[in-house]
Amino acid sequence: MDKKGFLIVISGFSGAGKGTVVKKLVEKYGYSLSVSATTREPREGEVDGREYYFKSVADFQNLIDYNGFIEWAQYVDNYYGTPRKFVEDEMNKGNDVILEIEVQGAMNVKKQYPNAILIFITAPSATSLRQRLAGRGTETEEVINKRMKRAIEESKDIDAYDYIIVNDDLEECVDAVNSVIVGKKSLRENNLEFIEEIRKELNEL
Ligand code: 5GP
Repeated sequence: MDKKGFLIVISGFSGAGKGTVVKKLVEKYGYSLSVSATTREPREGEVDGREYYFKSVADFQNLIDYNGFIEWAQYVDNYYGTPRKFVEDEMNKGNDVILEIEVQGAMNVKKQYPNAILIFITAPSATSLRQRLAGRGTETEEVINKRMKRAIEESKDIDAYDYIIVNDDLEECVDAVNSVIVGKKSLRENNLEFIEEIRKELNEL
């Protein structure tokens, strides 16, 4: 049966470790991962086309104009967007696609794809969040403070998510995320075509 893949949106506070969680989900469970475009500068070790497609503001604007994004948003001082083609192609192939995006983008996706699974990853506490951000060593004090402020904003939007998962132990968190995805995909309402088909087959045998 030509079943379309699911869209899985993973958000979380900056520093909650969602990047690592997502990487593990891809490795361990074989999800497709959408690589976003951004206007922010690459961090040390980041590779164009792997972590992000790094774009100038003009190029990013161009992509917006040509409907190249499923969604895009401004986060702190930069733009981030989800390229449309990869996501649509993967879903059409029946592959489940993970988008690791912030809250505004998640809302936008939910409007266009009501069946998308929205998962929010959080650190166990606000203190541990700040510690993780500082411990990363890649961010200036000013940026850390901006991101903590942004986290306060993001905490107001948690209500829009279907699942909240605490990232205390990485492996447990990864398995929990996979479980909720499997759970959502297994809902009867998400398998109507399959039910129809197996009933038909049974009658034909
Ligand atoms: P960072 O600069 O730390 O890589 O990402 C900053 C924030 O932007 C994170 O919350 C990340 O999830 C979000 N983000 C990354 N790509 C996209 C995207 O394509 N769209 C949206 N809306 N947010 C994104």
